[in-house]
Amino acid sequence: MYDVTSLKAEEFISDAEIRETLAYADANKENAELIDAILQKAAERKGLDHREASVLLACEMPDKIERMYALAQQIKQDYYGNRIVMFAPLYLSNYCVNGCVYCPYHLKNKHIARKKLTQEEIIAEVTALQDMGHKRLAIEAGEDPVNNPIEYILECIDTIYSIKHKNGAIRRVNVNIAATTVENYRRLKEAGIGTYILFQETYHKESYEKLHPTGPKHDYAYHTEAMDRAMEGGIDDVGLGVLFGLELYRYEFAGLLMHAEHLEAVHGVGPHTISVPRLKRADDIDPNAFDNGISDDIFAKLCALIRISVPYTGMIISTRESQEVREKVLALGVSQLSGASKTSVGGYAAPEQEDETTSEQFEVSDQRTLDEVVNWLMRLGHIPSFCTACYREGRTGDRFMELCKNMQILNCCHPNALMTLKEYLEDYASEETKELGLALIEKELEKITNPKVKKTACAYVHDIAEGRRDFRF
Ligand code: SF4
Repeated sequence: MYDVTSLKAEEFISDAEIRETLAYADANKENAELIDAILQKAAERKGLDHREASVLLACEMPDKIERMYALAQQIKQDYYGNRIVMFAPLYLSNYCVNGCVYCPYHLKNKHIARKKLTQEEIIAEVTALQDMGHKRLAIEAGEDPVNNPIEYILECIDTIYSIKHKNGAIRRVNVNIAATTVENYRRLKEAGIGTYILFQETYHKESYEKLHPTGPKHDYAYHTEAMDRAMEGGIDDVGLGVLFGLELYRYEFAGLLMHAEHLEAVHGVGPHTISVPRLKRADDIDPNAFDNGISDDIFAKLCALIRISVPYTGMIISTRESQEVREKVLALGVSQLSGASKTSVGGYAAPEQEDETTSEQFEVSDQRTLDEVVNWLMRLGHIPSFCTACYREGRTGDRFMELCKNMQILNCCHPNALMTLKEYLEDYASEETKELGLALIEKELEKITNPKVKKTACAYVHDIAEGRRDFRF
C-alpha cells in the first residue's frame, strides 16, 4: 500500500501507485481544464506532486508544452538567477563487485582496465583539477568492500581537502558511492562531505532486480532506502537521479518525484539535487541494447517538469550530454553542470591514450575544456559559479531551502557566484574569457538589491584582483 511516510521502499515507491498515476495521466492528458489548473499551481511556485506532474508529462498539446517550458525558465530565473554551478567528477576506483548490466565496471568485465588511485595519484589528479579552476568535486567509486572500503573513501576525502596548490583548493567534495550503513554515512558527514549522491538507476523493482543480477546492489530495498539512512546519519543534502533509458521514462519520473515527496514528508527536506543521466555507450555497453532510450525532446520535457515540480531542488547535467543538448536544457532549469570531465580513473593527470585499454565509465559527449565551457556559458548569459559557500556556512538541508524560498539568492548566491568567477578569471582563464567575464561581473554586480551587500561584494571583487581569495556571504 502506498504510504509516503513509510520507511519501506515498496510502500513509499509503490508500484500500484505509479501504475494508477500513469493511468490517471493517460486519462487526463487532454483535459485542458485540469492541465491549466496544474500549470497555475506550478506558476504559484507551489511545486507539483507526482500525479500532477505526470499529467503534464503525458500531455502532448503544443501550447501547454510551451507554457511548461516558459514556466521552467521563469522558475529557474526566480530561484537560481542566471548562475550555473560548476563541478567535476573524480573517479577514485573502478573496482566493483556488482553486476549492473548497463555499467562497464561490472564484475564480469575482464576487459576494462581496473584502477584504484593511491593517495599520491589523488594529489596529482586534484592538482590537475585545481589547475583547471575547479573548486567542487563529485567523487565516484565502484562498490567493493575489499578494494574501496569506507576507510579508503574517507582517506581520499581528507587528502582532497588537504591539497592547496597555488591559489587552488577543493572546497566541497560531494560523494557518489554505493548505498551503505547509517554509521558509514555518519563518518562521511564527519569527513565534511557536501551532497551524498546515489542514483536509483530505476524505480521499477522487477527491472531493478534484473538489471542488478548479482552483488549487494541487487537488494532493491537497501538501495532505495539509502537516502533515509544517509539522513539518519546526519547528511542533510542528498542527490537523487535515475538512469534514463533503463525503464519507461514516465514510470521513472513518477518514482523520482515520489522519492522526493517521501524525503520531504519524513525528514522535512527534499533532495538537494536531482541528476538526469541518460544511458551512454561505454566499454562493453551498447545503449541500443536497451529499448527505453528517450529522445532529446522528451529529455528536455523531463528537465522542464522536474524544475517546475521541485522548484527548490538543484538539477545537474553532466558531460554525458552534448553541447547542443546541454544548451537546450540549461534554459529549462538546470542549475549545475560538469565541465572538462574525465570518467576514467586517473584521467586528469594522465589522460588515456588512444591505444590504451580504457578505464572509463562512459563516453563523454561534451569534450571541451573548462575555459571553453565557462566562455560558452557567459556568452549564453549565464554566470559560471564556483561557489561552495552554503555548505561551508552551514546552509544545508532546509536552511538552504529557506534561502531559496525567500528568494535571497540575489543577495547571497549571486555575489558569491561573481566573486568565485572573479577568482577563476584571475587564476585560470584565457585572456578572451577573462575579458568577457570581467565585463559580465561589472554588469551583474549592479543587480544586487541590498546596498550593503552590493558595496561589500564590490570591495571583495576588487580585493580578489589584488590577490586575496575565498570571500563569501
Ligand atoms: S553502476 Fe556502480 S555498482 Fe554498478 S557496476 Fe557500475 S560502478 Fe559498480
